[in-house]
Amino acid sequence: MLKKVLENIKSISNQNIKIVAVSKYVGADKVAILAAHGQSDFGENRVQDLALKKEALSDLNLNWHFIGRLQSNKINQLISLRPIMWQSCESVQKALAVDSRLNYELPTLLQINSANEDSKQGFSPESATEAWHEIKEKCKFIKPVGVMSIGAHSDDLRDIITSFEATRQLFESLKSATVCSMGMSSDYEIAIKCGSNMLRLGSILFK
Ligand SMILES: *Cc1c(COP(=O)(O)O)cnc(C)c1O
Repeated sequence: MLKKVLENIKSISNQNIKIVAVSKYVGADKVAILAAHGQSDFGENRVQDLALKKEALSDLNLNWHFIGRLQSNKINQLISLRPIMWQSCESVQKALAVDSRLNYELPTLLQINSANEDSKQGFSPESATEAWHEIKEKCKFIKPVGVMSIGAHSDDLRDIITSFEATRQLFESLKSATVCSMGMSSDYEIAIKCGSNMLRLGSILFK
């Protein structure tokens, strides 16, 4: 399935688009299979699951992204796992809490709640710019490198496009941002057309 998705992505865009394989639905055995096909970056939304899989696959040298809600009592464990990227920083307060315990640089994405949905965490597009600068100023180890967003939860294509466009515009306005992480299994093609350069794909790769 990875091969098909890669071909499809190429047919939509000639940009360099990174795939993070979201392995939250599967065990380490399935991760190993995808890794054998050349996939290097994986994402988990629970710290315990990241710990288990990273440990089980420690000899493979994979890059692990944390993409879920980070509970305060899991901060130390996440830090000890040395993720390659924290994609789901949802508040300045959380960034400061993580930063105060870090002793290495952690590339971080601000999660953007671009459709202003109550069910989702993240910064509103309006508040994100100020937060970006505040985090850059106040944090020693947290390195904001871009934005992450989950597309609008809607059957209307226009809502999804609007939400991705809002994230993309914010991304472009942040001068030092290099990562625009948006697009999941059901909407990754739209996300690419809206300027994403990092997809987080779960079910389409593992089912
Ligand atoms: C689960 C998850 C994904 C992947 O979802 P699929 O629809 O299975 O591709 C991407 N991003 C986040 C934040 C997730 O929690």
